[in-house]
Amino acid sequence: MRPAWSILPDEWKDALSEKGLRPFRAAQILQSLYRDYIEKWDDATTLPKELRQQMQEEFPITKTELSDVAESADGVKKLLISFADGASVETVLIPATGRFTQCISTQVGCAMGCEFCASGASGLDRSLTADEIVSQYMFGRKFGQITNIVVMGMGEPFANYDETIRALKLINAGKGPNLGARHITISTCGVVPGFERLSQEGIQFELSVSLHAPNNELRSQIMPVNRRWPIEELLETCAAYTQKTKRAITFEYTLVKGFNDSLQCARELARRVKSVPMAKVNLIPLSPVSHRPDFKTPSQETMLAFLDVLMKNGVQTMLRRSRGSDASAACGQLRRRLIEG
Ligand code: SF4
Repeated sequence: MRPAWSILPDEWKDALSEKGLRPFRAAQILQSLYRDYIEKWDDATTLPKELRQQMQEEFPITKTELSDVAESADGVKKLLISFADGASVETVLIPATGRFTQCISTQVGCAMGCEFCASGASGLDRSLTADEIVSQYMFGRKFGQITNIVVMGMGEPFANYDETIRALKLINAGKGPNLGARHITISTCGVVPGFERLSQEGIQFELSVSLHAPNNELRSQIMPVNRRWPIEELLETCAAYTQKTKRAITFEYTLVKGFNDSLQCARELARRVKSVPMAKVNLIPLSPVSHRPDFKTPSQETMLAFLDVLMKNGVQTMLRRSRGSDASAACGQLRRRLIEG
């Protein structure tokens, strides 16, 4: 038994043959899955009834349920989606002019333990399978046409590399949902082996790296991953990735009041990221997290001064708005709310 949403379009003929089914059905199956977007095989009316039954047995369509939803004043919707075993993950829908972005999860919880993150605070329950990752997209598209995906929800994508990349390849496939690779961004906290593997895929997914501090002393305090792969090794790996793929990396830097928002931090950050060709920086005001009440958002004045240092040092930088904070939109908070009651 293989879930239908884990099979890449080019694999369907072989998958059918292996089960003694007629491979010429592959085209009809793909149309049912990714043109009609069926949610159960009974709805694939172009297939004979008997085949629909066999498809259900051999290639089931992953079932999901909406367990909770939170919507913020700025239109951001946060959905908590449950799978058959009761595990649940968050996916976030973010409308903007000309865009409808979905943030998806790759694991139930996360083992990385970043201090500012609710998912990390709950630990890892399990990794998602490719079809479960795809099922979030399938759920999200019911709310509107998804133009962009960011893999920034619960979990570390490079800690679940094979299933994550399979899911993204499927969403990207021309005979699948056909979402352009440049509209799909993978975000890692710095799991170094994943960069080399991704650079060998030959697919132009965007890559962003959560940096959040300009040196090992600060970064190790909030991101345990830094003790395994320190900032020098991470940035050398980023530079090698950029040289090989010719793709720019975006560094995410969450500004936390009194911790990493000083002008000295800004100067050090500029110096560090300039070692990576074409590097860009996204500055993100902290979304307060309930388990760290001591973490606060810096003032607008402080954030603008930080931005100014980076720009003056020639680093392409954006100061983002933090969106959806009234919908528990910081990663992992909706699930945590549900678990903690
Ligand atoms: S920020 Fe990402 S990598 Fe870090 S704990 Fe949260 S989900 Fe995991």
